[in-house]
Amino acid sequence: PPSGAGLEWINRFAALPDAFHHRPEPAPFPGARLLASSPAMRERLGLTPEDLAAEPWLGMITRGEPVAGTPQVASVYAGHQFGVYVPQLGDGRAKLLGEVRTPAGEHWELQSKGSGPTAFSRHADGRAVLRSSIREYLVSEHMAALGIPTTRAVALYGSSLRVFRERIESGAVVLRAAPSFLRFGHFEYFHYAGYPERLRQLIDYALDHDFPEHREAEDPVRAMLETVTARTAELMADWQAVGFSHGVMNTDNMSLTGLTIDYGPFAFMDAYDPDYICNHTDQGGRYAFGRQPGVAQWNLIRLAETLVGQFRAPDIDTAVEQAKPVLEAYQEQFRAAWLRRMRAKLGLQLGRDEDEALIQDLLARMAAEGVDYTRFFRQLPALEDGDARQGFLEELEDPRAWAAWEDRWRARLGHETRPTAERHAAMRAVNPKYILRNHLAQAAIERAEEGDLSEVERLQRVLSRPFDEQPEDEDLAGLPPAWASGIQLSCSS
Ligand code: AMP
Ligand code: MG
Ligand code: MG
Repeated sequence: PPSGAGLEWINRFAALPDAFHHRPEPAPFPGARLLASSPAMRERLGLTPEDLAAEPWLGMITRGEPVAGTPQVASVYAGHQFGVYVPQLGDGRAKLLGEVRTPAGEHWELQSKGSGPTAFSRHADGRAVLRSSIREYLVSEHMAALGIPTTRAVALYGSSLRVFRERIESGAVVLRAAPSFLRFGHFEYFHYAGYPERLRQLIDYALDHDFPEHREAEDPVRAMLETVTARTAELMADWQAVGFSHGVMNTDNMSLTGLTIDYGPFAFMDAYDPDYICNHTDQGGRYAFGRQPGVAQWNLIRLAETLVGQFRAPDIDTAVEQAKPVLEAYQEQFRAAWLRRMRAKLGLQLGRDEDEALIQDLLARMAAEGVDYTRFFRQLPALEDGDARQGFLEELEDPRAWAAWEDRWRARLGHETRPTAERHAAMRAVNPKYILRNHLAQAAIERAEEGDLSEVERLQRVLSRPFDEQPEDEDLAGLPPAWASGIQLSCSS
């Protein structure tokens, strides 16, 4: 087995029958070069940059070569894309290297993205460009640092491979890691293709692999659906609270274990706008920022449709009746999770009835003025500080229009008992100072395309401590420049 780490390879997904995956051939990756790697993930996996830059890891990750004699696999899945069912998608450019157990006992699946075509590439090339790979690499580790469940990025590789998109770009590979890469779409595939035995096998796999605690439940499949629903509600609250837009919330991009997965045209909002659409191919705004929680519920219903037939119920009607309350609970789970986060952002420790209106009215004001979402919350404590107050108000378009809301917030703070300094520290611990704004990623990408990785490294370092003051990198916390709003992002680059 490959050196580094004393990793133990267990490969449970690859051990499933052939119906679940194909084995893509290795493909060349000329001029392969390790461009960056995540210190946090390196440590967890016990890998050094030297391991990642040399064989056998280099060939496994960038050329898709077998790991310890075991071929890599690309899995088959389907999905609802923009509301329309597509009966077969699958890993078109992702390959599962295998699953490792680390010396600390953690399980990680390792997947490369962009190392060449698979049986599921359809008419596409199985490649990923440097631009989108840098974005995925940076955001994966940043989301983790923000405390948001996500697939992780271990390493980023560049090449001399020419990849044709709107322009010619260079090919890149990201090595990503997650406890599980199962998507809602994996279940949809076997359900709609009419393979109940295989669906059952996949469910058993998911229970063993991802939800062993539900094995002994009264109805393990229903318990799994409950957990997926609850975790998805929490994830949506995380996204909404931090101002994250995913961009392509198709069911094939929804993680069964509640992770953020498939980073394409994602964006962290600059100016607050519930109608914000980060994906310029999403003309109808199906996946607009404010619609994400509702879309997630729609997606959960699609998942439930594939699972109800496997409930331990006497008949399907009973199973459907049992699934309904699980899915209906989503709205209240989301609302509670969202309120918890928004209260914390405002420094509110207690829960009071008036809080929801206070938050909604704040968001309405922020939208009306297009206030910078991240900076507003980060700087909010300044309102209570004689010296800083003026600077905060100056960033608002119409400071007088805020007086009424501020009075309400202050009155509400009157019910709180925490000392002010402690409250401010708690607010800073939930309101990030640094986020991966589009224009920051763009600037780092342009430098990297010229061979200079220093800005990627700086972003990675700063964004891995998003809540900390980092005076030397204050420039990364500023308002976006005017050109930021012109950045265009689309799917699958
Ligand atoms: P996405 O929009 O990223 O969720 O991708 C949707 C589907 O297209 C998935 O099955 C991907 O694996 C596949 N896909 C996207 N880009 C490529 C590519 N460059 N080569 C092969 N398959 C791709
Ligand atoms: Mg996808
Ligand atoms: Mg994608």
